[in-house]
Amino acid sequence: MEEPIKVRLCPVCDEFWFMKWDEYCPVCGWCHSFLQEMYPDDKKMDNIMSLNEARQAFKEGKEIY
Ligand SMILES: [Zn+2]
Repeated sequence: MEEPIKVRLCPVCDEFWFMKWDEYCPVCGWCHSFLQEMYPDDKKMDNIMSLNEARQAFKEGKEIY
């Protein structure tokens, strides 16, 4: 599996550029997590939601936590 990229657009909302790990997206609330972006189904780490859950929630206009 490819390693996630540190400087990248938020993988949830595609609106905010992350510059470092563990930064919170001011648009959707996602925390830029190395492990969770490497394993998008893992939960209860930097974010309670998994990356896939957060993407789904964002599409539905729900809160990301
Ligand atoms: Zn975001």
